[in-house]
Amino acid sequence: MKWDEFSEWGRRAADWAQEYHGTIRDRPVRAQSQPGDVLNALPTSAPESPEDMEDVFNDFEQIVMPGMTHWQHPRFFAYFPTNATPASVLAEYMIANLSAQCMLWQTSPAATELETRVLDWLRQAMGLPDAFSGVIQDSASGATLAAVLTMRERALKWQGNSQGLPGQKPLRVYASREVHTSIDRAIWISGIGEANLVRIPIIGENRAMDSAALEAAIVADKANGMVPAGIVACVGGTGTGATDDIAAVSAIAKRHDLYLHVDAAWAGNAMICPEFQPMWAGAEEADSIVFNPYKWIGGQFDGSVHFVRSPEDLTRTLAISPEYLKTHGKDGIVNYSEWSVPLGRRFRALKLWFLIRAYGLEGLRSRIRNHVTWSRALHDKLGAVSGFEIVTKPMWSLWTFRHAPKGATDLDELNLRLVTAINDDGRIYLTQTRVDGVLAIRFQAGHFEATEDDVMMAYDVITEISEGLK
Ligand code: PLP
Repeated sequence: MKWDEFSEWGRRAADWAQEYHGTIRDRPVRAQSQPGDVLNALPTSAPESPEDMEDVFNDFEQIVMPGMTHWQHPRFFAYFPTNATPASVLAEYMIANLSAQCMLWQTSPAATELETRVLDWLRQAMGLPDAFSGVIQDSASGATLAAVLTMRERALKWQGNSQGLPGQKPLRVYASREVHTSIDRAIWISGIGEANLVRIPIIGENRAMDSAALEAAIVADKANGMVPAGIVACVGGTGTGATDDIAAVSAIAKRHDLYLHVDAAWAGNAMICPEFQPMWAGAEEADSIVFNPYKWIGGQFDGSVHFVRSPEDLTRTLAISPEYLKTHGKDGIVNYSEWSVPLGRRFRALKLWFLIRAYGLEGLRSRIRNHVTWSRALHDKLGAVSGFEIVTKPMWSLWTFRHAPKGATDLDELNLRLVTAINDDGRIYLTQTRVDGVLAIRFQAGHFEATEDDVMMAYDVITEISEGLK
């Protein structure tokens, strides 16, 4: 294929996309294919000669599409959303066209400076003070790894990178069991070791870390010759939306001079609405915060916003600067690759710039508010049906429930069958989780184009399919 054929195929792709999104409600949300269906439809070796784009496009329709789960379906209620908007998809297309590697200021000054500006817009919208600087990381996992490495280096007085961990006293990091498993992985990779990730019990309806237990654990560790390094708090944990009392946790972090990282990968999006900001009061005192704008406001997968109080601490931990990456003769520039584990960087800020300008913050807020309102309405309606139990209360638009008809004995098995039957049906898509050992079904509403009818259709599907289960 040559560039002079590009506009024709680009138009085909754009027409395809408009038709796809316009008729997406007719498709089953979760792929209905079986393991091996796609693999077996693909040739076992690569073509030696160029193939016709017409054939490639046809195979995309015939082979690939049946194996896709439709994350942009408005009745995608599983996991967390991964919202793409027409504006952010267009930005992604421009990013692909430029295909710039934006690791340094000089490798694309516009990418760096747009990132600085757009993240500052978001910081303001989220009610965070200007003590924070932002950087876009590849993922929330990447941001959390950067935070854990920084807390490790701070605790080791910046000797960890050079000396390694052998011979050091054990470093301790504190979190509840509600945090995402990316925290566990950051602890492994940093060399701190899972045994030194101290799980603090949770209390209350928000399933928050027990502050008294947190402080007692830190004090006990110090007394036992260990080195408390930091705390990872969650706002909107993945399973049930668990949310720590950030004000209490940050006060403890300050008292003990510990680094505080807040994982708000999903719920951080809601903080562009002032009425939700009290839910993370104290976040303004954290050392770092991560949220994924694609998870709710439509930032188009991928890219995670990482706010840090001290870019100096982050770059002291992660920056590499061999001669070939140095910029001479320019003052006051930022090289964002020094703020993250990967060197190469995509021009992700463009997606956020297109998004925010195309919808305005108010357009983004109104969607979040609708999702929360509709999800809570569904919660009230389903919770009133006999044979259904609410397991955890709504945290923004996420809550969990289970089917518990009278006389049923194995509720875990029944609910697993229910969620499977619902997803085989295809009108909606849900996933399960475990809450205090019990299998529960998660519901979250968050698709950018979802309507109240889409959300309420979940009631019909859940009740209808549950009736059909023996
Ligand atoms: N933190 C939370 C609360 C999440 O829900 C997730 C993923 O859903 C992550 C972190 C990991 O995100 P990423 O895929 O960007 O690493």
